[in-house]
Amino acid sequence: MRYVSTRGTAAELEFDDVLLAGLARDGGLYVPEAWPHLPTSALARYATMPYDEIATEIMWPFVDSAAGTLDHDAFVTIVRDSYATFDHPDVTPLVDLGDGTWLLELFHGPTLAFKDVALQLVGRLFDHVLHARGERVTIVGATSGDTGSAAIEACRDRDAIDIIILHPAGRTSEVQRRQMTTVDAPNVHNVAIEGTFDDCQDIVKALFADTTFRDRHHLSAVNSINWARVMAQIVYYAVASARLTAGASPVAFSVPTGNFGNVFAGYGATRMGVPVSQLVIGSNRNDILTRWLASGVLEQLEVHPTLSPSMDIQISSNHERLLFELLGRDGSAVVDLMSRFRAEGQAELDPALMGPVRETWSAARLDDDETIAVMRQVHEATGLVVDPHTAVGIGAARLARRDPGVPMVCLATAHPAKFPDAVERAMGERPALPARLADLFDRTERYAELPNDVAAVQRFVDDAVR
Ligand SMILES: *Cc1c(COP(=O)(O)O)cnc(C)c1O
Repeated sequence: MRYVSTRGTAAELEFDDVLLAGLARDGGLYVPEAWPHLPTSALARYATMPYDEIATEIMWPFVDSAAGTLDHDAFVTIVRDSYATFDHPDVTPLVDLGDGTWLLELFHGPTLAFKDVALQLVGRLFDHVLHARGERVTIVGATSGDTGSAAIEACRDRDAIDIIILHPAGRTSEVQRRQMTTVDAPNVHNVAIEGTFDDCQDIVKALFADTTFRDRHHLSAVNSINWARVMAQIVYYAVASARLTAGASPVAFSVPTGNFGNVFAGYGATRMGVPVSQLVIGSNRNDILTRWLASGVLEQLEVHPTLSPSMDIQISSNHERLLFELLGRDGSAVVDLMSRFRAEGQAELDPALMGPVRETWSAARLDDDETIAVMRQVHEATGLVVDPHTAVGIGAARLARRDPGVPMVCLATAHPAKFPDAVERAMGERPALPARLADLFDRTERYAELPNDVAAVQRFVDDAVR
């Protein structure tokens, strides 16, 4: 398998290099040169197979390469170890919500958000490839919450990696901060920046822009545009289809969406042959994708904070991967569209292309009050407590569902204990921490506090990295 950039001019790469590269040199995102197809009757076999075996089978064609460092046996072990960290035997269990709707619970990993499904694998893949090449990297990232803890858990104690995560001091929830700062591993470094999340992101950008510094530390990232993260997420769409219908009839999915990585993986599953009748994009008040699907126009507005902060995004990076497919895999057409969007804050896709898009894709938006109402309704009807992101997906599914005869799978992207304030507002009481986090408030925190200053962060990294 080789990978091409959505902007058409970067070198084609094989899996190991795509894994480590993140963004392509032409500013695009890597996608497989062709979508592999699942073997006939694969989904029928998957109906009763363990998650890790399905995952290995689905991902191997993406990983397999002549020049790569991963052989099949090593990959089997990496995948098995990745999903052994999940505390449910099905890894991503399905829960019946009634009326032919289902929850696909993606939050049984170490940090209780769906990002673990991809990052547990990506951390191990990084470590394997770096060891094989005799290289090491320093991963830096900024977080407002979920991504930081999932990345830290994925990279902790891996000796080819140091990881440095910046968070805005006093602006993450205490659960989220403690999930990062109580990890006791020599290669994990947390920094509280006296500033906002945007300040943290600007510092990270400045670190990458300083080429001397970047090369000295072999800076790298595990952000959501990394192809390997999308690849790992394709698996649970196939698993849900296999368990519900053995692939014999279509399933619909509803996905609470921010950066578009998760729902794009659903699109990838359809390209591989998983029968999907509908992909629903759930938006909060930050609804660029919902507006795009209705009008064909991508228009950037300001970001509003909501109860579902992991979706408080106006530019969904992974959307470019879908645009590349819709534009007939024409990199120059993508460059044209994206540069108009960057320059003018808006760009329109050819209306003739939008008709076919709407045959599979739907979208719906929920504001915070509607999100709270869904949390209450789900609780009253089923006794289940869902987190606000998951509630957006369930609400969007209700608004957009076309065929009540087709099972609708709503992706549950976080455990409710990660968002205790929203749960308290909806339910009147705070959720209990699950067993794996029960002692979170007794653990010792470790983090540096630094001013909003690039040079101060550079000095910190120089000292911290072994
Ligand atoms: C990251 C995240 C999302 C958004 O996923 P994307 O792949 O960025 O669209 C939704 N819910 C939760 C809880 C998240 O952490």
